[in-house]
Amino acid sequence: MPRSLPDQPFRPATILVRGGQNRSSYDEMSEPVHLTSGFMYESAQQAEDTFLGTAQHYQYSRFGNPTIEALQQKLAALEGAEACRVTASGMAAVHAAMLSHLKAGDRVVASRALFGSCHWIVSTLLPRYGIETVFVDGADLNQWADALKTRTALVLLETPSNPMLEMVDLRAVSDLAHAAGAIVVVDNVFATPLLQRPMEFGADVVVYSATKHFDGQGRVLGGAVLGSKKWVDDTLQPFIRNTGPSISPFNAWVVLKGLETLHIRIPAMCANAAKVADFLASRPEVSRTLYPFLASHPQQALARKQMSAGGSLVTFDVAGGKDAAFRVLNALRLVDISNNLGDARSMVTHPATTTHMKVGPEERARLGITDGTVRLSVGLEDVQDVIEDLAQALDATRGSLRAAAE
Ligand SMILES: *Cc1c(COP(=O)(O)O)cnc(C)c1O
Repeated sequence: MPRSLPDQPFRPATILVRGGQNRSSYDEMSEPVHLTSGFMYESAQQAEDTFLGTAQHYQYSRFGNPTIEALQQKLAALEGAEACRVTASGMAAVHAAMLSHLKAGDRVVASRALFGSCHWIVSTLLPRYGIETVFVDGADLNQWADALKTRTALVLLETPSNPMLEMVDLRAVSDLAHAAGAIVVVDNVFATPLLQRPMEFGADVVVYSATKHFDGQGRVLGGAVLGSKKWVDDTLQPFIRNTGPSISPFNAWVVLKGLETLHIRIPAMCANAAKVADFLASRPEVSRTLYPFLASHPQQALARKQMSAGGSLVTFDVAGGKDAAFRVLNALRLVDISNNLGDARSMVTHPATTTHMKVGPEERARLGITDGTVRLSVGLEDVQDVIEDLAQALDATRGSLRAAAE
């Protein structure tokens, strides 16, 4: 007999280890990889009934596959959402969530501080299809209130944001958005479902890049969209079925295996990140340290209201601008230079010349990204080794600081 998780409200760790599993008649312990593009039917009648929707049978992996379904069920249970669809990447998830819902003549309001490609979709792609888009400073509720005086179809926001770790008040913005007729889509990548559950604050749709903490070991791309069963069935699923941003069953399986340890990895990464933030804040070469749970974070109270820990990312400014920041990055021996994040390995990137190069200097200034800004994704190494690596790299900037002062 296939045996799946009993239907009762288990806690996140149990859902992560056992949720979504649907054993086959072979009683396998680990989820099998159903690496197949299509499925066969016992009879022509079964095929017709399946296409009519009167029989339940997998048809084609572009819109249904048992391994992908296991991942969807695990993520839905973890989020406390009615339904989930996973996609080939985080951007496929964001794109599908937005384009499935929007049409020409609609209006979108988004926080300015978005992941680079999300910013591009709002600023460049949507207007091509006759969709009006408006950016606001996510931390400023007055700007949200002004922008949402006009009827709006969709609100997109990210909290904490990339890379400046700015918070958006999920409850307040959701209330304003709903009054304007909009659905609220939250990119929850930085927080993960273990630290923040946007639907509890009124969000309608939550999107993830599974490439980040879900896999957590730098192997595959993936994405997820979560929402009500009605919205997923009626709005999202037809879009995904007919446009094909589908994840490979193999990649879905890798993410499933990654999720089994998410509840161990996230608290360990957060604990490491908090220690690294304290260390950076104590260094004279660092002119600003941003971490949601740091006492100096301007929105610390909101962060503590919405999140159960500060996350795995720390952003800081190296005094001395681009030269000094490059010197720090180049002097690191353990921490890798990479624009990825959420990995077991600690990684740094210089947003102004990588992830946020294309948004241009004016928008970077509006976002608070300077030429000295560095984003650090803290991993699972011994935190003392990471701190010692940062310490020796910051020591290496002393020469340039002295030169600049002279
Ligand atoms: C990485 C990321 C994405 C995009 O995910 P991909 O899997 O790279 O397509 C979207 N939003 C945020 C906040 C991200 O960090």
